[in-house]
Amino acid sequence: ILHGKRAIVTGSNSGIGLGIAEELAAAGAEVVLNSFTDRDEDHALAAELAQRHGVAVRYIKADMSKGDECRALIEQSGGCDILVNNAGIQHVAKLEEFPAEKWDAIIAINMSSAFHCTAAALPAMYQAGWGRVINVASAHGLTASPFKSAYVAAKHGVVGLTKVTGLEAAGSGVTCNAICPGYVLTPIVEKQIPDQMKTHNMDRETVIKEVMLSRQPSGEFATTEQVGGIAVFLCSGAADQITGTTISVDGGWTAL
Ligand code: NAD
Repeated sequence: ILHGKRAIVTGSNSGIGLGIAEELAAAGAEVVLNSFTDRDEDHALAAELAQRHGVAVRYIKADMSKGDECRALIEQSGGCDILVNNAGIQHVAKLEEFPAEKWDAIIAINMSSAFHCTAAALPAMYQAGWGRVINVASAHGLTASPFKSAYVAAKHGVVGLTKVTGLEAAGSGVTCNAICPGYVLTPIVEKQIPDQMKTHNMDRETVIKEVMLSRQPSGEFATTEQVGGIAVFLCSGAADQITGTTISVDGGWTAL
């Protein structure tokens, strides 16, 4: 269904971004992968994806903590029909001990990059009369947890930006929505486990069961394929009137 469409997925050399890129490519879209590194394996990943799905895939390096690099990514890609703002990092610490540089990095990568990329991508979408902006927010864009001040603030900001983008684009053929996953077992989650073990003074299994999945009533992690499937759905005609809103993929977390 996405033949002839170009998708840019920020932060897509691993985890959810890669899962979304995979599903968009499987649906026929040309894909631009991105991260801040420029390694052989990044370009190999693009070649693999291209071969698996018979679509064009490029890898373009750009650091999403820098506004000018965000905008350059869109330009270097030649614009896009589908923009997925996915890049994100996490840091877990008490508010009064939260390092200021971590705060700045999380706000820049998790929130401001979506502003810069969307601003650069919208004009061509408006001109084409069709476009999709998909922001990967989080259950933490709708609710909070202790020790995640910057992440929760940034993700709530992304949900706000999603509403404004949806309103400004209304009637243009361009929609903007946020996917709000609960816990998906990816490297960003894996990396939180040691911090959580320390903060809560628990072992790995107890942290997974009692801290992470305690908020997810289904008791199961969501998968990157499922999040990718929602992105493809948001690109379909059935989603033409879905805009400025959020879709939770959280096993019931935000219903609690
Ligand atoms: P991940 O660590 O696997 O992926 C993060 C991606 O962002 C990687 O590709 C990384 O290279 C990239 N990235 C990091 N800093 C960057 C920078 N400065 N410039 C460009 N790219 C950069 O983690 P993930 O779980 O796949 O997270 C992807 C998104 O999903 C994030 O926005 C995260 O907040 C969100 N999310 C994840 C979960 C979860 O449970 N895994 C839940 C809700 C939301």
